[in-house]
Amino acid sequence: MKIKKEILDFIKEHGNKELPNEACGYLAGVNDEILTAVKMTNIDKSPEHFSFDIKEQFNVVKNLREKGLEIKGVYHTHPSSPARMSDEDIRLANDINLFYLIYSLIYDNFAVFKITKEKFVIPVEIEVI
Ligand SMILES: [Zn+2]
Repeated sequence: MKIKKEILDFIKEHGNKELPNEACGYLAGVNDEILTAVKMTNIDKSPEHFSFDIKEQFNVVKNLREKGLEIKGVYHTHPSSPARMSDEDIRLANDINLFYLIYSLIYDNFAVFKITKEKFVIPVEIEVI
């Protein structure tokens, strides 16, 4: 997955701003390239999980489509755990086409995963462009 450095910085900043809770949002772009990130409200307001607001989700997806961008992934932050898919993350990850990006605030690192139909987690390499 290709992603711009400034998008990674944007996610870091979002994660810090939402502390102690998890931050979340969408990654959008074309093909395997992420061109923009969109902040979403974590309606759970929790340090351990997140959920999107369905109405906000609908509007964001619509706006991105109008700009010719596709949803390529979902990002969220882990304030106090490593950048890997938790059991809850795996349970909620249902789209085999999406990249799941996690930023760990305590380790200050990013990881990206894909999920298979059988719920296998596949690490994806991040190429900063
Ligand atoms: Zn998580």
